[in-house]
Amino acid sequence: MNITSNTTARIGFIGLGIMGQSMAGHLLAAGHSLALYNRSREKAQVLVDKGAQWCDTPAQVAAQSDIVITMVGYPSDVEQVWLGSEGIIANARNALLIDMTTSSPALAVRLAAEAEKGGHQALDAPVSGGDVGAREARLSIMVGGDPAAYQTALPVLRLLGTNVVHVGAAGAGQHTKMSNQIVIASTIMGVCEGLAYARAAGLDETVLLQAIGGGAAGSFQLNVMGPRIVKGDFAPGFFIEHFLKDLGIALAEAERMKLALPGASLAQRLYTELSERGLSRQGTQALFQHYLAGA
Ligand code: NAP
Repeated sequence: MNITSNTTARIGFIGLGIMGQSMAGHLLAAGHSLALYNRSREKAQVLVDKGAQWCDTPAQVAAQSDIVITMVGYPSDVEQVWLGSEGIIANARNALLIDMTTSSPALAVRLAAEAEKGGHQALDAPVSGGDVGAREARLSIMVGGDPAAYQTALPVLRLLGTNVVHVGAAGAGQHTKMSNQIVIASTIMGVCEGLAYARAAGLDETVLLQAIGGGAAGSFQLNVMGPRIVKGDFAPGFFIEHFLKDLGIALAEAERMKLALPGASLAQRLYTELSERGLSRQGTQALFQHYLAGA
């Protein structure tokens, strides 16, 4: 398979949530033919209206695609879509299979091996950049897997992100994403603490963000999540329940490697408390509510 920026491919896309919806839209807009599946059918409608084809099962998507991309929620969802008699491995034909879900490194290694047995190539290619990055096709994409498969995928991945990096063998993409989530865990706690301090000190929080957003504290978390926190907008760009999934994977991997991660462990405790208060479907910036509660 040789895809250039001038050729079109038969692409299948499974998982049309906050991220997948925008990502699949970019592939369609670039002229690729797109076969779609999502657990809830209604989320496919906007793309079907623009010319994408709905399929009733992941197997149908796989049977008619040269490249299949999955962007579902949890590792268990990835297993369900990839494995088994109705999964994409069993039903694709010499295809390139790319999982962009944030999932476990061990599962990525297993999927690459299973895909190879089925005559396919597989990549783990999780992303960073949030709902904004997906909408604006400015994601960072960290890719693990065979270098030749990476080269095949590159023209397609470049339609979704501005920073596409091959980071190593199968599983390395997911390990890289875990490192990314560990950085975010302590960063979002710092942003919430800085804003809680500013509020207690009676500062104008919008002016505060202007003042410090361009300095050494500047980051995606401060510059994108900060204004949402100031507005009291806790709607999900990134669900707390997904961040807890990621922290669980990262901390289990760290434990296996005998590595202590106090920042990520604290973030896991604070987000678990928010989740127990019923906030698991809010965005990660809702961590600010922990500080409002004065806990
Ligand atoms: P989301 O809105 O929950 O999207 C997941 C989509 O996958 C949903 O539409 C869901 O269907 C579908 N799905 C789940 N299991 C499925 C299955 N077995 N078969 C078919 N479809 C299935 O979540 P998201 O925010 O787009 O995130 C997707 C993944 O990217 C997660 O792993 C997340 O951790 C990661 N991620 C998210 C962000 C972010 O900022 N949002 C950034 C980077 C990475 P339903 O419509 O039925 O729920």
